[in-house]
Amino acid sequence: EAQVFGLKKQFGKNEILKGIDLTIHRGEVVCIIGPSGSGKTTFLRCLNLLEEPNEGNYQLADTMYNLASIGAKQAREIALKTAMVFQSYELFSHMTILKNVMEGLVTPRKVKKKEAEQIALDALRQVGLEDKKDMYPIQLSGGQQQRVGIARAMALTPEILLFDEPTSALDPELVGEVLSVMRSLADSGQTMIVVTHEMQFAQEVADKVIFMADGYIIEQGSPDDVFNHPKEDRTKQFLSQVR
Ligand code: ATP
Repeated sequence: EAQVFGLKKQFGKNEILKGIDLTIHRGEVVCIIGPSGSGKTTFLRCLNLLEEPNEGNYQLADTMYNLASIGAKQAREIALKTAMVFQSYELFSHMTILKNVMEGLVTPRKVKKKEAEQIALDALRQVGLEDKKDMYPIQLSGGQQQRVGIARAMALTPEILLFDEPTSALDPELVGEVLSVMRSLADSGQTMIVVTHEMQFAQEVADKVIFMADGYIIEQGSPDDVFNHPKEDRTKQFLSQVR
């Protein structure tokens, strides 16, 4: 379980997140939807300290952090308990697929090479790409590269797996294979937060849907609540534009 209270983030004078509260239970899938520029990506990046929040409290795996005064050691701790799948994959182009998946284990987590290789091969098998282990990212399709991105994040066995619009850089015909890997991860009980424009995925896979706009959570609930019975005008307006 993880909880965030009153998370705020500003860039210069520009307040992007204006006090976000979120609870996620073990094994839950939370999907975050909302208009462009509402702060969804920034929120996700705050959850693994890729961005440093300005205020708030963050409980992650039995530790409570005061986000206003995070030191380097705590930031590292949080980073090690989370893993991110990026919109543009962010694979290391000079490393093989296998090395890409091993890297986060070997360097920051100091897992022995042989063990890291086993874990990486396992993760690649789960996304159906074990046979590509000796290739380089450029030799793979976008959908395959993103599946490597997911394998790399899975291999870290994070408390929470964070997805930042994982399919929005893909050609339409490649979206399905990535969503299907994400579905099986969700079925396996992985705790996940997914920022997405894929409304159907959110509707079918999420335990909880969060609608964000202008740096606030405007509305949250089950997919049925948010998609079929939205309470707020802002939510209704957004849904009418995307469906
Ligand atoms: P989208 O759906 O388009 O990805 P989003 O909801 O994920 O949008 P964010 O990417 O979190 O929105 O951006 C929210 C706001 O924060 C935007 O106005 C953006 O310009 C601003 N922003 C994001 N990162 C930075 C940064 N490093 N420095 C300054 N401003 C930033």
